[in-house]
Amino acid sequence: MRVLVTGGAGFIGSHYVRTMLSGSYPGYEAAQVTVVDKLTYAGNTANLPLDHPRLDFVRGDITDPALLRTVLPGHREVVHFAAESHVDRSLERAAEFALTNVVGTQSLFDACLYAGVERVVHVSTDEVYGSISQGSWTEEWPLQPNSPYAAAKAGSDLMARAYGRTHGLDVRTTRCSNNYGPYQHPEKLIPLFVTRLLSGRTVPLYGDGSNVREWVHVDDHCHGVHLALTRGRAGEIYNIGGGTELTNREMTERLLELCGAGWDSVRHTDDRKGHDLRYALDDSKIREQLGYLPRTRLDQGLADVVQWYRDNPWWWKPLLGGRG
Ligand code: NAD
Repeated sequence: MRVLVTGGAGFIGSHYVRTMLSGSYPGYEAAQVTVVDKLTYAGNTANLPLDHPRLDFVRGDITDPALLRTVLPGHREVVHFAAESHVDRSLERAAEFALTNVVGTQSLFDACLYAGVERVVHVSTDEVYGSISQGSWTEEWPLQPNSPYAAAKAGSDLMARAYGRTHGLDVRTTRCSNNYGPYQHPEKLIPLFVTRLLSGRTVPLYGDGSNVREWVHVDDHCHGVHLALTRGRAGEIYNIGGGTELTNREMTERLLELCGAGWDSVRHTDDRKGHDLRYALDDSKIREQLGYLPRTRLDQGLADVVQWYRDNPWWWKPLLGGRG
């Protein structure tokens, strides 16, 4: 069996690929994996075991239909992680987000039809639902994205729906909450704070830190994505949650403690434009229908991640650019 993974050199895609190659997904112990990744600033071949005999790496752009038509034939399944993923960047460079996330996804689906791919998982985000002050979103919630990142992901979700309805392409969409784990680019909150604190620097906290996020370990997210691939149904949407809500202030408190720093290491900065106040998912559908259960408790997961960044400065120091 051959599985193609887009964005497989990024944070979550590479975790999925490493887990599959390690033989941890039953039935996929012999699967041949092809990664297609453009290697933007967020893609990193150091995230992948490039010399693994069951891995083929193709540097390529999902907005390039000719490349996709060359690479895709022979693959039965596609797991689509590739995206521009950082909200802050989308405030300044929205066109790149529209291009990769919407047009790139549409090109990928076209190529999947051309190549006769049997199943696609389109990996999306809870941010497509907007912000919710109380309660939690089910999959039926309207799409009310607030950032250009979220709008472009919502556009890709609508492409998934349209290619299923119009062309009969088997696409399952997953929408996950905020991920944390090893190999996450230090632009994102947890690795940004951890790498700065471990370097003896201050960390920037947006506004009063009251924004609430639900955190899921990347391994649980990937497990949910794989369940959608193997047990999910065509055209369905599955929320993937972690179950642990924290304000950014509470998360900062935990990271300060784990890194041995105090509140004097925190700088309060102006709030992000259009900053969503709270995200919260109702993921009972994937739990009840596909047997999903997040396995990593936040306390242990965070402690392990901080230890990973302590042990692997070779990985993150080159990514800090001028601010190392
Ligand atoms: P990431 O930014 O770490 O990785 C994205 C990868 O996609 C990179 O390797 C990059 O090189 C590649 N890429 C970007 N543009 C491309 C293009 N045009 N063609 C081919 N490859 C391209 O992102 P991530 O955090 O690993 O997120 C992966 C997916 O999961 C995204 O679709 C994101 O929207 C979704 N998601 C992320 C989170 C999170 O908390 N990080 C939560 C829910 C959903």
